[in-house]
Amino acid sequence: MAEALRFECQPGCTACCTQRGFVYLSDADIQRAAAFISMSAAAFERKFVYRTRNRARLRVPRDANCHFLLAGGCSIHPAKPTQCRTFPFWPELVESRREWRKTARYCPGIDKGPLIHIETARTIAQEMREAYPALY
Ligand code: SF4
Ligand code: SF4
Repeated sequence: MAEALRFECQPGCTACCTQRGFVYLSDADIQRAAAFISMSAAAFERKFVYRTRNRARLRVPRDANCHFLLAGGCSIHPAKPTQCRTFPFWPELVESRREWRKTARYCPGIDKGPLIHIETARTIAQEMREAYPALY
């Protein structure tokens, strides 16, 4: 991978929220998001979370990509899940030039803005590994 990656999230864009795939949740993600919308973690979980034996993820509404994606963007932005907050610095993207380039096809923030040193990108990627050990 390169010594640095260029990225800056673009105002008004929500392209990463509308891709296929799930938003996985750590327990801390659930607590943060629940507190942000003034719900208990248990009530949030009943309404928005699908849990299997070792993973939890946001339920996907029938007619939308995410319960929290509104016209103005993510309605829980300050408390959004680790997966959303750290994108596109996910381990599988940071460590693969090919996957990084593929992601650039839908993320207009890639190749814009400041250069992010690869070690900074890897530190962010590490947050993903720690938040979702069942995925890595
Ligand atoms: S697709 Fe890229 S630029 Fe668009 S909101 Fe997501 S991270 Fe930001
Ligand atoms: S939680 Fe927010 S940032 Fe994450 S997919 Fe849903 S709308 Fe997008």
